[in-house]
Amino acid sequence: MLILVTNDDGVQSPGITALVSQLRQLGRVVVVAPDRERSAVGRALTLHLPLRAEVVGPDCWAVSGTPTDCVNLGIQGLLESRPDLVVSGINKGANMGDDLTYSGTVAAAMEATLMGVPSFAVSLSSSTFAEADFAHAAQTAGTVARLVMQHGLLADTFLNVNVPAGKPHGLRLTRQGKRTYQEAVVHSQDPRGRSYFWIGAGELGFQDLEGTDFHAVARGYVSLTPLHLDLTNYAAFDRVRQWTPELVQTASDEEPHL
Ligand code: MN
Repeated sequence: MLILVTNDDGVQSPGITALVSQLRQLGRVVVVAPDRERSAVGRALTLHLPLRAEVVGPDCWAVSGTPTDCVNLGIQGLLESRPDLVVSGINKGANMGDDLTYSGTVAAAMEATLMGVPSFAVSLSSSTFAEADFAHAAQTAGTVARLVMQHGLLADTFLNVNVPAGKPHGLRLTRQGKRTYQEAVVHSQDPRGRSYFWIGAGELGFQDLEGTDFHAVARGYVSLTPLHLDLTNYAAFDRVRQWTPELVQTASDEEPHL
């Protein structure tokens, strides 16, 4: 079994080290990861700059690009054969609810799905990021990797896995929750007297709804959310169709039955 591992915290991050040593029990692991932290770059793909890939260890590449670049380049350029699985993480920090669309960790798993390779993202929800927490998260990733390899995933589907700090109580199948963002932008002056802004300074909260990723992780469980790439809101069709007769229903605007 050939596993491609990437992340968005950079090739040196403790999360990827823990993940790799765990997954090496399952097969050959090749790391293709950003050469520096690229958190919150989402689905960014580098189209207007060359990418450099440097060997920094056995089966380990550092790439001057984004997590999405790494998966794309790994599958199409660096790996000798197509991987059986792509795992992205272990991210330093949870990736749940609305945060998913910012996440480079989740985006990398998404890229693998687009390329037809089963994948999942794994993130650690912690404030201290102790070594033991990464070890628990790595064990969880090993378990999920085995399950995915054993059972496969539906086409267009990947998994978003979030692990609480400490020893998890178990696994929970969840849906994507909702963040409550407190909008707070810091506006100040730099030492040269120029004005600057810093976003993301607000307290992050979440709606504590049963069945969501946030709810499970807050109670010490691993959350496992199946995601897909189709962002279509099928429930909105009826409403939008009423705007004007020009918006004719097409046969394909019904939710696909898998
Ligand atoms: Mn990150």
